[in-house]
Amino acid sequence: MSGAVPVIEVRELKKYFPLPRRYPAQAAARVHAVDGVSFAIGRGETLSLVGESGCGKSTVGRTILGLTRPTAGEVRLDGVRIDNLPAGRLRPLRRRMQVVFQDPFSSLNPRLSVREILAEPIANFTLARTRGELAERIAGLLEKVRLPADAAGRFPHEFSGGQRQRIGIARALATEPEVIICDEAVSALDVSVKAQIVNLLSDLQDELGLSLLFITHDLAIVEHLTHRVAVMYLGRIVEAADRRSLFARAWHPYTQALLSAVPVPDPAARRRRTILKGDVPSPVNLPTGCRFHTRCPHAFARCRSEEPELRPVGDAQWVACHLDARPGG
Ligand code: SF4
Repeated sequence: MSGAVPVIEVRELKKYFPLPRRYPAQAAARVHAVDGVSFAIGRGETLSLVGESGCGKSTVGRTILGLTRPTAGEVRLDGVRIDNLPAGRLRPLRRRMQVVFQDPFSSLNPRLSVREILAEPIANFTLARTRGELAERIAGLLEKVRLPADAAGRFPHEFSGGQRQRIGIARALATEPEVIICDEAVSALDVSVKAQIVNLLSDLQDELGLSLLFITHDLAIVEHLTHRVAVMYLGRIVEAADRRSLFARAWHPYTQALLSAVPVPDPAARRRRTILKGDVPSPVNLPTGCRFHTRCPHAFARCRSEEPELRPVGDAQWVACHLDARPGG
């Protein structure tokens, strides 16, 4: 990012949720959804936040958007802290940060036409002064996401899953944001449709200079889209790297397992598949030491007592793992 102020920066972000009251014996216990996460996204850059369901990646996205307040840490937009702003001051900033969710069918109001769906955010932020200007903006949005102009008069159920996601993207673009958070935005789509939507996002990024936070459980999706990757496990980032370094050599055993599931285009080449054993431990009762030690095929004594910190392992790669320090390793 060449020293420029990042568009989005999170510093030591923590989000703990209290347990429901039906567990009085654990009154002080909390769900450690996000537990000390830091990263920055530059202008026109894509960062992918990758991990299994429940690792806290969506909570990071929601916290950036101001949909939930952090327990500790900071969120900055263009260098200005926004996590502690009152709702009234946060609202105008929401125009600059938009989200595309996984399931466009449930996030698009089925009773509204596409025209009405797109008009809503434009009206909320007074981005069109006349009917003509509004119609022009809606036509421009449909063109950007490569939907025909007559889509404006139709309703969400009349479209395929991929087309509905294009409507979701058009709605996100309606406020002319600088940042779009894509929360499992292509996960529910067929493989070929996934690729089309990923290509669309990539083209829009080039055209509009968007910064993207791509939240996904699937490393394969981001291989051709992302600039950098941060891998999350149980509320912490366990590996962060630029795309090339991560796909060339993943250091963390968890990243290696995720990567082993990514299909290789050359049928002659094979990646040895690592199937992770066991379930992700509860984010209420976190394992001691390395949070991954209950599932790690390389765990040794130190892993059970000391939590590894992120440390650099190359020019553009950081890993939280003791493996290099294993006796005889
Ligand atoms: Fe595995 Fe130990 Fe590294 Fe954790 S610190 S990933 S348990 S080797």
